[in-house]
Amino acid sequence: MIKRILEWLYPPVCVFCGKICEQGICAECRKKVGIIGEPRCKKCGKPIRLEEAELCYDCEREELDYEQGRSLWLHKMPVSSSIYAFKYKNRRIYGEVYGKEMAKTFEKLIRLWEIDVIVPVPLHRKKQKKRGFNQAEILAKEIGLRTGLPVDTTLVKRKINTVPQKEFSRRERKKNLKNAFEVTRKIKEKNVLIIDDIYTTGSTIHSISVLLKKSGAEKTYFLTISIGQGL
Ligand SMILES: [Zn+2]
Ligand SMILES: [Zn+2]
Repeated sequence: MIKRILEWLYPPVCVFCGKICEQGICAECRKKVGIIGEPRCKKCGKPIRLEEAELCYDCEREELDYEQGRSLWLHKMPVSSSIYAFKYKNRRIYGEVYGKEMAKTFEKLIRLWEIDVIVPVPLHRKKQKKRGFNQAEILAKEIGLRTGLPVDTTLVKRKINTVPQKEFSRRERKKNLKNAFEVTRKIKEKNVLIIDDIYTTGSTIHSISVLLKKSGAEKTYFLTISIGQGL
């Protein structure tokens, strides 16, 4: 009953154009916002030019600790503004739409990676309290629900409330993140899937991956909603 009333008050809308839409992404926007296809970087999944062999410029230049990862869409309009609304305008429901889309699109890949546990990138306690939720956790739970894989929200903790990464250069990002996270226990799970909203330089996934492997993980992968086009 409460659900019905809520749906009547706030009918489901398309996460991109805001039109009323049961599925959360309308046909028009789905056509406009294409999933990232081939050719793409074998490691981070970013689109590459045909003449680039296997890895994108960024992955070629710098070795990041994780094995492989993928994102649904490029981080440009209308994806960027949709994610912004999700995080800063309290559109939690968008997270369920993205999560559902991630689970559906990467279902085979998740099975191929033989994931044992899903771990969302944590927010610092203070930031989560202010925002009211952790966006990566909403995505992870949706993916967990749809794949049947366990989600661990306490395994990785953010010790330091880092300054927003946006204005930083690659080197500064890494420095900013060093020691920002901690893994709270030794883990038995072999393959870990790290979930975040946006992949930019990969520094966050890298930092968490290093710690997870120190604590016993064998392989780490990532999935995000969107990915930047490179620096
Ligand atoms: Zn739409
Ligand atoms: Zn790459």
